Amino acid sequence: MKIGFIGLGIMGKPMAKNLLKAGHELLVFDVVQANIDEVTAAGAKAAASSADVASQVPVIITMLPNSPHVKTVVLGEKGVLEGARPGAILIDMSSIAPLASQEIEKACAARGIKMIDAPVSGGEPKAIDGTLAIMVGGDRQVFEEVKPVLLQMGSTAVYCGTIGAGNTTKLANQIIVGLNIAAAAEAFTLVKKAGVDPQLVFEAIKAGLAGSTVLNAKAPMMIGGNFKPGFKIDLHIKDLANALDTGHGVGAPLPLTALVREMMETLHTDGFGQDDHSALAKYYAKVSGTKIGK
Ligand code: NAD
Repeated sequence: MKIGFIGLGIMGKPMAKNLLKAGHELLVFDVVQANIDEVTAAGAKAAASSADVASQVPVIITMLPNSPHVKTVVLGEKGVLEGARPGAILIDMSSIAPLASQEIEKACAARGIKMIDAPVSGGEPKAIDGTLAIMVGGDRQVFEEVKPVLLQMGSTAVYCGTIGAGNTTKLANQIIVGLNIAAAAEAFTLVKKAGVDPQLVFEAIKAGLAGSTVLNAKAPMMIGGNFKPGFKIDLHIKDLANALDTGHGVGAPLPLTALVREMMETLHTDGFGQDDHSALAKYYAKVSGTKIGK
């Protein structure tokens, strides 16, 4: 199939490469030329703009940072809607505000373009392996039509409801991940201050109820003093801000999310916005005067 791919960053690049490996013809665009070059070297063709991508393919995938970027790429000048043919399908795989997905879908529908939101979880390693967890909102028939393509980038693709439901699910994912990392950083700081080795604590508890995928991925980073991203603090701030806005909109107070977001804002202010989100350990180092690891 001929597929358009717009947004070739940390996640978009490996996802696009997996579609090439699966035998698709890919037409790509990004505002950063080096990102385009890396994917064309793997076999994709470059387009001149998002409109140019959309004018030549029946399926367009976007993987962009946040709501304003998706609005620019889809609704803006030389955007997807300028080029897309009626009947085309837009799969937005970015993590954005559910309300923005709904607004963009409405503008697409008015032009005969079908849109679903399909954000992902799993980070760069799972994007490379093609084992992302994909959560989908929109028309169920459109989802079924493109599900085989989604499963060439992920190991699961679950239909969650109408447009925006994929991103609502992703907000839940980001709340659970962020709060778990904060809990681990708090707990490991306690044991370090109390004179017990955090590595031994991790070994002792990881098979029990406190064990989790998040703990297995992030405890070694905190203990090793390695905060190379992975998933950046600044992107997690974006997701928690979208969660708080959405929560306020529907009348769901999110006090723990607000607290962890402020911890992350502190880290951003201290210059750690580009660190991995496991750098929540640095917040606790600041308030306790003790580092968990190196
Ligand atoms: P990134 O910043 O590395 O990539 C975004 C890409 O979009 C960049 O290459 C950028 O140049 C491009 N871009 C921005 N504006 C553009 C425009 N107007 N036209 C064309 N291209 C444009 O971000 P990422 O880490 O790849 O994340 C993408 C999305 O996936 C985000 O919503 C993020 O929250 C989500 N996500 C990221 C991870 C992760 O671990 N990095 C995991 C799951 C979900």
